[in-house]
Amino acid sequence: MSGPGAQFSTRFAPSPTGPLHFGSLVAALGSWLAARSRGGTWHVRIDDLDPPREEPGAAPAILRTLEAHGLTWDGPVVYQSRRAAAYQEALETLRRSGWAYPCACSRREIQAAGPASGPMGWIYPGTCRSGLPPGRAERAVRVRTQGVRIHFVDAAAGPITTELDSEIGDFVIRRADGFFAYHLACAVDDAAYGYTHVIRGQDLLACTPPQIHLQRLLGLNTPHYHHLPLALNEYGQKLSKQNRAPPLEADRASANLVEALGLLGYAPTEGLDRAPAPEVLGWALAHTRRA
Ligand code: GLU
Repeated sequence: MSGPGAQFSTRFAPSPTGPLHFGSLVAALGSWLAARSRGGTWHVRIDDLDPPREEPGAAPAILRTLEAHGLTWDGPVVYQSRRAAAYQEALETLRRSGWAYPCACSRREIQAAGPASGPMGWIYPGTCRSGLPPGRAERAVRVRTQGVRIHFVDAAAGPITTELDSEIGDFVIRRADGFFAYHLACAVDDAAYGYTHVIRGQDLLACTPPQIHLQRLLGLNTPHYHHLPLALNEYGQKLSKQNRAPPLEADRASANLVEALGLLGYAPTEGLDRAPAPEVLGWALAHTRRA
């Protein structure tokens, strides 16, 4: 855990797979308010780890949209695409300790084994756990989870206990296409930049135990976690690029902020959506309890 004297510091970590939508604004605003109301710092990290899913121009567009909403950040923007050396070092540490192992399985082979399913998809059946089958080459790298129980207290969801082995399974830290996986990069960077708090959407709650597992294996600090409510569309689905959440319009910044505040449990006063964005944020800060 972060030290008692550490200054509050958190981050917003969008993936540049498309423009910012309302769901990500809720996470951005929630983490921004938490930092600013405590005199802490708020940082932006672009999770550009997955070039095949990236949309050209999305990263600068996301930054412009944040600015248009008055959500200004501290320090330089971190780009995960420039952090490969740190992830490689972590991967080697995990390999040396025996916690990471090469895996030859393709998606089709895993599927053919009839795997159980957890909150993060298939639970790896463990085929390559005790070595690559004869004649097979390494595709991905996985981390072991047998006998690992992760317990943490989420600021919103309360105490969470996860049996990693049966609920998540040995997960990929370097993908078959050679890219580092989100869990590894996130665990490494959340510690490397000294964030005391990770405040993000509730859809990522199940990602926290694997990330804490990696932090422990790597001897890294574990931040405090707070998973925020999710914005749903009219069909009750999470707003995401996959289900075509519309991009945020910068000229509706105040209305967007007011709507996001409603989701975060604030009761914005009538007409606040017609005030300039900085005023909306000022109102929200004045109504943030330092819980
Ligand atoms: N890049 C991830 C996403 O947009 C969020 C990562 C995080 O906040 O840990 O879903």
